Amino acid sequence: MLERVELAMPTLPTGTLLKTVAAPNQALSSLCAEVDPKDSNILQLAADLITTMHANKGCVGLAANQVGRAVRVFALDVSNHPKTTKSHGLFVLINPEIVSSSRNEKSREGCLSVPDFTGDVKRATQLTITGYLPGSDSQITIETQGFEAKAIGHEIDHLNGYLFLDRVAGAHAIFPRKRYL
Ligand SMILES: [Zn+2]
Repeated sequence: MLERVELAMPTLPTGTLLKTVAAPNQALSSLCAEVDPKDSNILQLAADLITTMHANKGCVGLAANQVGRAVRVFALDVSNHPKTTKSHGLFVLINPEIVSSSRNEKSREGCLSVPDFTGDVKRATQLTITGYLPGSDSQITIETQGFEAKAIGHEIDHLNGYLFLDRVAGAHAIFPRKRYL
């Protein structure tokens, strides 16, 4: 059973496909800066992140520093992933903060910015976060679980300058990637 919760995402400008960066890259290891969710440049970035995420097959999330912009913004959409049990659909979240996280589970994950490897990473499968939708100054709370919780944990890690490679238990938990997804 897939539990769906819709967020009040605004209509965004037309997105542009942006170039993604791969590790090692300064933007990927940066602590990203908070931004004004109502800034028109951020609304455009939100649209561009969605367009760029959709252009990469199998991509369920994209952080702004993966397109070279070190600001606290990410796009996510796990609604079509077979492992998803709860989904907030397609959304962009700005200035996310983790309120609580629990029930860590280990699973294999990959990243557009680390094209040649996958890794076994422990992440919370129960997660509560706050943040802002593009164009809004009211803070929202997102409670989720399972695959979406792990995907959000991965994206918030990006905004703090961490890759999944920083989260694996050791070299034995890194694997050559056979295909994306
Ligand atoms: Zn990633």
